[in-house]
Amino acid sequence: MKLPICNACGEIQYPVREICGACLADEVTVQEVEVTGVLLSQVDLHHSMEPGFLANLPWSIGNVQVNGGAVMTAHLYGQLATGSAVDLQWITDPKGRDVIVAKPVGEGTVVWENLENKGK
Ligand SMILES: [Zn+2]
Repeated sequence: MKLPICNACGEIQYPVREICGACLADEVTVQEVEVTGVLLSQVDLHHSMEPGFLANLPWSIGNVQVNGGAVMTAHLYGQLATGSAVDLQWITDPKGRDVIVAKPVGEGTVVWENLENKGK
């Protein structure tokens, strides 16, 4: 995943920002980094105001404590248990927005259609 990393302390800057949230250094560099983490919590959404989600409910999302210190909210792919290790990647949703997906460690690249077709 490409993310800004603090040049002074190495902390991942998420949400993306130009000043380090940990040490206030003002030099961050966008880098390709392998982002892994631990799934802290998860929930299945059974209702949505977004028409694109209605055919795919329940939709799983969760919070991940990543190796660089940040907590990221992510769409969940695959069978994941709270406390399990996950890999993270950027994924493009149908509206062209870049969002984050958490997936089992070692899982290949996931595309949006994989999320829509989970368990079907
Ligand atoms: Zn820093």
